[in-house]
Amino acid sequence: MNPEHSYPGRLIVVEGIDGSGKSTQIELLQNYLRLKGYGVLLNVWNSSPEISPIIRKAKKKQTLTPYAFSLLHAADFSYRYTHEILPALKAGKVVLSDRYIYTAVARDCARGIPKDWLVSNFRFAIRPDLTFFFRVDPAVSYDRITQTREIKYYEAGMDMEFSTNPRESYILFQSKVLAEYEVLAKENGFHLIDGAHSMDETQKSMRKAVNPVLSGIG
Ligand code: ADP
Repeated sequence: MNPEHSYPGRLIVVEGIDGSGKSTQIELLQNYLRLKGYGVLLNVWNSSPEISPIIRKAKKKQTLTPYAFSLLHAADFSYRYTHEILPALKAGKVVLSDRYIYTAVARDCARGIPKDWLVSNFRFAIRPDLTFFFRVDPAVSYDRITQTREIKYYEAGMDMEFSTNPRESYILFQSKVLAEYEVLAKENGFHLIDGAHSMDETQKSMRKAVNPVLSGIG
């Protein structure tokens, strides 16, 4: 279990497979909390100024092994944790994290990396005050994503060579990720969000869950 924190801020996380609705909801939550007067930092997976450009280049070449993929994302997380997430928590902000350590564990486990190695790599990171887990059928999230853009190589797990068909590969790979998330959800007490619900319904239930977590802040 990761350590609890005693910083004045709060850490709220959204987790789930690609296309499950996390970014949509966390942005709505960000607007809601800002309107309520909270200082908010929205922090996004794979966005550090130092490491994420390297990840983008490496992904284009499609040559990353599962361990290289994992370590690069761990470096990106570690950078954001130290330089962005922790300072905001120390300053009493509400940190909204679009993906957290559980993404690395679920996704890299699905790529065949032993879970204990992954968990120990992220042992330093504090436990969030609240983690939402967006549970959605991979066939549904595939359809949602491909309404606006093409599926990406690593998102579909094409590097694992489960199938040469991107849709089939996405569903096989993301089903494995989802199974890992189900275990993590039980181990870490995630707050379940039914990804089949409407955006409005989901946002309402998230606000209801967030409000008690924010008591005593600001
Ligand atoms: P994620 O951040 O988990 O990858 P997004 O928030 O980007 O997912 O959502 C993926 C796509 O699904 C977007 O086009 C978004 O508009 C759509 N979407 C999100 N939530 C819902 C929902 N509850 N019902 C239908 N479509 C949704």
